[in-house]
Amino acid sequence: MSDSSTPAPGEKVLVSACLLGRACTYKATDNDDAVLTRELAERGLEAVPFCPEEHGGLSTPRPPADLTAPAESVLAGTGAVRTHDGRDVTAEFLRGADGALEICQRLGLKRAFLKERSPSCGCATTHIDGEVVEGPGLTAALLQENGVECTGVEGRRD
Ligand code: SF4
Repeated sequence: MSDSSTPAPGEKVLVSACLLGRACTYKATDNDDAVLTRELAERGLEAVPFCPEEHGGLSTPRPPADLTAPAESVLAGTGAVRTHDGRDVTAEFLRGADGALEICQRLGLKRAFLKERSPSCGCATTHIDGEVVEGPGLTAALLQENGVECTGVEGRRD
C-alpha cells in the first residue's frame, strides 16, 4: 500500500468490499487482503466497504465484464461496459461509480483503496476488451476526476 500522502489516524477511507473479505466478485468470491486490513488497523484508518458493481444493481455471481474503451471515454459517453456474453452493463457500472462518489462526498472521504485490474475498481490497471491494460476502471476514474486519491491493492492473503 503506497499512497502518496499520510492519512490522519481515525480517517475514514473507501475500500473495495472484496478486499475486506466480502464475496462480491463476479464469481462470488472475495479478494480478502490481510496485509491491507492489517495496515489500515495499524494506521488507525476506518474502512468504509463498498462494491460498485453490486451497488449498481448487478447480481452476485454475475457474468464478467470489460470496458470497451478507456474509463475516461466511457464516463464521457463514448465507450461502454459489456459482459463477455455481449450484454451492455454500462448503466449499472456508471450507477456504481456514481454511488462511490456520492459516499465519498457525503462522508468527506479523500482516499480510496481499490482492487487492482477490476473494470470498476482498478486504479493503475483495468480490463479493456479482455486485456489487462494501464489505466483506471470506471469507479476509480470518476473518483480520481473528483479529487479522491485512489490506491490500487492486489488482494494479498498474507
Ligand atoms: Fe466489487 Fe470492486 Fe471488488 Fe469488483 S473489485 S467485486 S466491483 S469491490
